[in-house]
Amino acid sequence: MRDTDLELFRKNLLILRARLVGDVTHMADLALNRNENELSSMPVHLADIGSDNYDRDFTLQLVQSGHETLQQVDEALRRIDEGTYDICEVCGGRIPKRRLQVMPYASMCVKCAEKAGL
Ligand SMILES: [Zn+2]
Repeated sequence: MRDTDLELFRKNLLILRARLVGDVTHMADLALNRNENELSSMPVHLADIGSDNYDRDFTLQLVQSGHETLQQVDEALRRIDEGTYDICEVCGGRIPKRRLQVMPYASMCVKCAEKAGL
């Protein structure tokens, strides 16, 4: 892959990373605030507690998947530095540029990702 392409992908990844970090922080804040509100607004109906807990679990799940994507983005940035960005980490084949444009943190070619069930 050409250096100019790599720089473009690096930029995309850094933007994505900034967005993820912002989102994750924001979502974590939301989850924490909700917790405080619950305590201060006691007593609460049992039904309300149920739905609040559901919402909070859902938010925390989002935070977690955000962290996973963040790790993948960091890995991709590391692979750019190592010069292995568009090399499939399973079969060693080339990851098509089109795929990386859609999913800049992809670490496998389409075939390997399908085999891995991703
Ligand atoms: Zn592969």
